[in-house]
Amino acid sequence: MLAVVLKPGHELALEEVPKPKVDGPGQMLVKVTTSAICGSDLHIKYGEIPIAPGSTIGHEFVGVVEETAPDVRRFKPGDRVDVAAGLWCGCCPACKRGKIQSCQVGGVWGGGMFKGRPLPGAQSEYVQVFNADMCAVPIPNNVSDEQAILVGDVFSTGYHAVAQAEVGTGDTLAIFGCGPIGLAAVASAGLFGLKRVFALDVLPNRLAMAEKLGAEPIDASDDGAVNKILAATGMQGVDAAIEAAGLPQSFNQALTALRRDGTLSVVGLFASPVQLNLPVLGLYGVRIHMGLASLSHMDQLMNLLAAGKVDLSCLTTHSFPLSQAMEAYDLFENQKDQCIKVMLKP
Ligand SMILES: [Zn+2]
Ligand SMILES: [Zn+2]
Repeated sequence: MLAVVLKPGHELALEEVPKPKVDGPGQMLVKVTTSAICGSDLHIKYGEIPIAPGSTIGHEFVGVVEETAPDVRRFKPGDRVDVAAGLWCGCCPACKRGKIQSCQVGGVWGGGMFKGRPLPGAQSEYVQVFNADMCAVPIPNNVSDEQAILVGDVFSTGYHAVAQAEVGTGDTLAIFGCGPIGLAAVASAGLFGLKRVFALDVLPNRLAMAEKLGAEPIDASDDGAVNKILAATGMQGVDAAIEAAGLPQSFNQALTALRRDGTLSVVGLFASPVQLNLPVLGLYGVRIHMGLASLSHMDQLMNLLAAGKVDLSCLTTHSFPLSQAMEAYDLFENQKDQCIKVMLKP
């Protein structure tokens, strides 16, 4: 079968690899109908998330169940499924604390040893899914592949970003970075009864999309961007901020936009260290929450899409056959044609 493979020298290639099969309990074989390219795939390409050359990559996918192990109870052949970007075991100390994202024996699809064991990549024609009953959800008939695929990573991460920002009714929130995760956070913020949501980015098309999803757009390249937030909050600062860009500049902007005793929720992936002004932050009592996103809300988020309470269809801007995966990567990596989310169809 065809799969996207990491090559030495920061290169990707589309290659023939062996088709996987079900060979143990709890497993199912999924025929991929749509996979997506994620920003973290570029971190893998450039070695910022180290995985072994020769590995297949990709962790966002939906498909149809082709075969299940006899003990799989939730799924049967023919079912449409969305699989979580990373697995968890359900029984380690972290899982028992409810922090499945910290499971050390789970793993991320196509993510090497990033989080436990290496798992195969999903930018391919088939995936051997482990822990199937726990780490996959059924897709309702009225939810498209393009929306369902976001539940396993992008929507879950955006929702988690807002949840760990500890905001509630009447609060204010600023979201720094309007890539897919930031936009999913904007859409999720609509579920929390907030008073005002500000969205910051440097790209006009992303700001336009954030506005469409319910945020007040602010051009982050404007020197006065943070001052606009302060002015809009009576010079208090927002109750919470989300860093979804993974950049030192937006991290510091987010901290500056916070009120005293505010909360910063970090979901951006950083390629380099960031300096913190701890003398000031300590006095301000700022709380910073970070870490991988919890994927424990997949069923609820899928239900929100099915009920039409959230519509993320605008995030998918491009779709390519898997056979043109390299063209798709070129478009995504170089941010051509105002792309946001790029899908691959085997
Ligand atoms: Zn992803
Ligand atoms: Zn675990």
